[in-house]
Amino acid sequence: MRKERTPIIAANWKMHNGPQQACSYIQALLSALPQAKRCGIVLCLPYVDLAAAAPLLRDTRMALGAQNLHWAPQGAYTGEISASMLTQLEVRYVIVGHSERRRLFGESDQDVNQKLRAALDAGLRPILCVGEDLEQRQLGAAMELIAYQLKTALSGVSAQELRQVIIAYEPIWAIGTGVSATPEQAGEVCTGIRQAIQQLYGAPAAQSVIIQYGGSMNEGNAAQLLSQEDIDGGLIGTASLDLDKFLSIVQTANQLCLEQQA
Ligand code: PEP
Repeated sequence: MRKERTPIIAANWKMHNGPQQACSYIQALLSALPQAKRCGIVLCLPYVDLAAAAPLLRDTRMALGAQNLHWAPQGAYTGEISASMLTQLEVRYVIVGHSERRRLFGESDQDVNQKLRAALDAGLRPILCVGEDLEQRQLGAAMELIAYQLKTALSGVSAQELRQVIIAYEPIWAIGTGVSATPEQAGEVCTGIRQAIQQLYGAPAAQSVIIQYGGSMNEGNAAQLLSQEDIDGGLIGTASLDLDKFLSIVQTANQLCLEQQA
């Protein structure tokens, strides 16, 4: 991370924890967090938790996020949730294009683009996930694939709008496996992502865009991952379900921010 960019630590709970557990977690996290605001903190909760969580997060140093949305403003889409439904619940961030949605629910790059567009139009900050699987990495095709994912997802997004977008590099082989990318591997791809953004939007946009790493980040490896120059935070699945582990990652990010400002 670099001091010009405020890192964001985001939790992705996936399909874990109902409203009661969410409220207990948030209350405990709020009382354990230090007063000083350094890194951004976002909790991407299951849809059913959002209404209960919103009042607890109001006027705190944490923001509410969702894990998905539909691109249409309304309509006959049984089981889906629109961007304006999320904003009515005080949601400010939304994960778009998570690899689990791409792989398990068949979301294409074009779908991701439409969702990103819908999020931006509604004033939500999308956390755009990109990343390769193991075979693509072994073939040496990771960066080419990620550049394509970025270009497609960001089609029609202006430089001004890009300021609202957070990019999360999430190698599929590291998600939920307990095997993180090494800091060097993660740092190298995040640098490549910044270069790809530079090609699409120019240097100032590339220098300011927030790029997270996600994939088995935990309390033990966060410091090394977040020390990489182009990694500006983390998207955290498994470790975010454990309050102490998530808190420890937030504290690590805060500490690194402090050291940079010194
Ligand atoms: C994720 O799903 O976004 C993620 C990073 O999961 P985990 O931390 O469990 O690898």
